[in-house]
Amino acid sequence: MKISNIKVVDDNENIVSCIGDDKTGAHPKVYLNIRDEDGEIECYYCGKTFIYKSQIEKKQNV
Ligand SMILES: [Zn+2]
Repeated sequence: MKISNIKVVDDNENIVSCIGDDKTGAHPKVYLNIRDEDGEIECYYCGKTFIYKSQIEKKQNV
């Protein structure tokens, strides 16, 4: 997992939007549903990973 391409979101946001960024380039705006199973979703345009704050903390504690 590329740390540089992760966006941490609040646990109560289950839908995120992505339009790309400077590094990967802009793309049409898409809405992504964060998976309940692992608290993550990857943008299928730019590969950015959106992850719940609680999931990040869990991973860092392992
Ligand atoms: Zn994207």
